[in-house]
Amino acid sequence: MAMALLCALTLSAPSTAQSLREREIAQCLPGEISTWGDGHDRPASSSPLIFQYDHTGSPAWFSQAVVLEAVQNAAQAWSQCGVPSQVLTPASDQAQRPGAILVQWSQENSGGNFAQADLGKGLLAMNPAMFELLNERNPKHDAGLTLQMVISHEMGHHFGLMAHSRRCVDVTSYYDNGKGERCHTRDGRAPAAGVEYRALLPTACDIARCMQANNVPERNQENRLSHLLKSNKTKPPDH
Ligand SMILES: [Zn+2]
Repeated sequence: MAMALLCALTLSAPSTAQSLREREIAQCLPGEISTWGDGHDRPASSSPLIFQYDHTGSPAWFSQAVVLEAVQNAAQAWSQCGVPSQVLTPASDQAQRPGAILVQWSQENSGGNFAQADLGKGLLAMNPAMFELLNERNPKHDAGLTLQMVISHEMGHHFGLMAHSRRCVDVTSYYDNGKGERCHTRDGRAPAAGVEYRALLPTACDIARCMQANNVPERNQENRLSHLLKSNKTKPPDH
């Protein structure tokens, strides 16, 4: 459930294979969906899904507006799979809305990872200590990109994607299983070390798998996919 992050401490935006990566983000070829088989996808716990952001405990350099926008971007992108969502701002409702998934900053609830989803407790917890460490180790890296990716990844679990993708570019992926097996790219090459290959927002294959998990009729899929992913672009390399 937790995001495998590892390389995120030294990551920068991709500087090579950009066009292949962009194509992999925008298009899911027949048979291309592939997971590590580490979970069973299922429908989201509710529809619509309500997320409620609490800015308490955030690293100082992340404004509430920045984090909220990342949460909204992820929710909006995932909802293209046919499960509507709503993001409540802290100002609009201080008390936790019953049934809402609390998006919070909590070292304890993020289990030593950048972030962690707890479906049973209705949590998406981000780890302030890991973002502090990222900032310390790699101050030139735009931590907002990592923030967007981990929120998108963990939110995917709440939308019903329980298995992790084996397609490197998917936001629900992890790169290797620690036993020498690697994720897949379309040209068969492993992503360059130290460069983030994952998308910031759900890819076409993430969305297609989300549709399957949520039993969205196939006739709707083509339509929805055609509107996809326009905003799923990373910034150019900043080195
Ligand atoms: Zn995960």
